[in-house]
Amino acid sequence: MRFSSSSGRPASRRVPEIFTEDPRPGAGQFVYCKGCGEPLESRDRFSRSRPVVTVMMCEACRVVHGHDLIPTPGSATFCYRCGGPDEVFVSTGLWPETHHVCPRCLPDRADRYRRGDFAPPEREAAPADTG
Ligand SMILES: [Zn+2]
Ligand SMILES: [Zn+2]
Repeated sequence: MRFSSSSGRPASRRVPEIFTEDPRPGAGQFVYCKGCGEPLESRDRFSRSRPVVTVMMCEACRVVHGHDLIPTPGSATFCYRCGGPDEVFVSTGLWPETHHVCPRCLPDRADRYRRGDFAPPEREAAPADTG
């Protein structure tokens, strides 16, 4: 999940997520359904300056999960970028959090989570109350 930094603060300190390039031919031309991993739509519109993502699942999965963006908690998810199965990690501690991470696109993060290291390398911005 990606949040845009909407506050007036410059986002310079935020470490950008580096996605590993997908080596499969043509794979980078699509985004994929979070619910089943099928190609969802062309990635063309995401190359524009202000992409608006309103749907991250195919119609069948939206019906199944009753949501446009994410499968119901506890469901297996697939990578929006490459269609591969996400690995699910549940952090330990007072506030266990479930993370769905694609080990193909985010091998470093998946690696860290496998070792039980859930601390973000940089402080994440607090979620805004508005919206
Ligand atoms: Zn689907
Ligand atoms: Zn991926």
